[in-house]
Amino acid sequence: MTVGLDIKWALRWIALSAEAMAEHRVELIELDRPIGDSDHGENMDRGFKAVTEKIAEVLPEKPGPALKLAAMTLISKVGGAAGPLYGTAFLRAAAALGDEPEIDAAALVTALQAARDGIVARGKAEPGDKTMVDAWTPAVDAAAAAAGDGDVRKVLDAAAEAAEHGAVATEPMIARKGRASYLGERSAGHRDPGAQSSAYILRAAAEAAK
Ligand code: ADP
Ligand code: MG
Repeated sequence: MTVGLDIKWALRWIALSAEAMAEHRVELIELDRPIGDSDHGENMDRGFKAVTEKIAEVLPEKPGPALKLAAMTLISKVGGAAGPLYGTAFLRAAAALGDEPEIDAAALVTALQAARDGIVARGKAEPGDKTMVDAWTPAVDAAAAAAGDGDVRKVLDAAAEAAEHGAVATEPMIARKGRASYLGERSAGHRDPGAQSSAYILRAAAEAAK
C-alpha cells in the first residue's frame, strides 16, 4: 500500500483532535489537578476549538499549510506550557511537509520526528522526565519501525499505540520538567496530562487515515 495522506487527512486529523479534546476535557483537567494547576483540558479544548474556527475560515489546501495554521493558532490561543510546545510541534511538522500535496510513509515519519524534536527543543525535557516527550518519543520510534512497507496507516497506528503506552508509563515517573516538577517525588503515581493529550492527538491522526 502506497496511498499517501492528503489535505483531507490533515483536516480530519485536526477535527478529530478537536473532538477528542472536547470529549476528554474534564479527564485532562483531572489529570492536571494533582500534579499541575487543573487547566490542561481547558487549554487544549479552547485551543483546538480556535484551530477548528481558523481552519474553516482559511480553508488550507495542503497538509503542511493546514498544520502551520494549527500551530500558529495554538501558540496564540493556548496559555501555559502546552500551547507553545504543541505549537512548535505542529510548526516543525508543517515545515517538514512543506508544500507537498501528499505525504508518504517516509515523509510522515520525518514529520513526526520533527514534531517531537520541536517539543524537545522548546521544553528541553528528556525521556523519563514525565512530560509529553514520553508519549512522543516511543511514538516516533514505533512509527519509524513500522514504516518499512510504506503503509501510512500502519505508521500512524503504531505511533498512536506507542503513545498510549508511553502516557501510561509516565505514572510512576518523578517529574523533572514543568509545573509537576515542583512536587518532586510526590509527582509519582499520577499520569502526565500532556502525555495523555498527546496520545489522544496521535490516535486522532491514526483514525483520520481510516
Ligand atoms: P501548564 O503546565 O503551564 O499549566 P498545561 O497544563 O496546559 O500547562 O500543560 C502541562 C503539560 O505540559 C504537562 O503535562 C507536560 O506534558 C507538558 N510540559 C510541561 N513542561 C514541559 C517541558 N519542559 N517539556 C515537555 N513537555 C512539558
Ligand atoms: Mg496546567
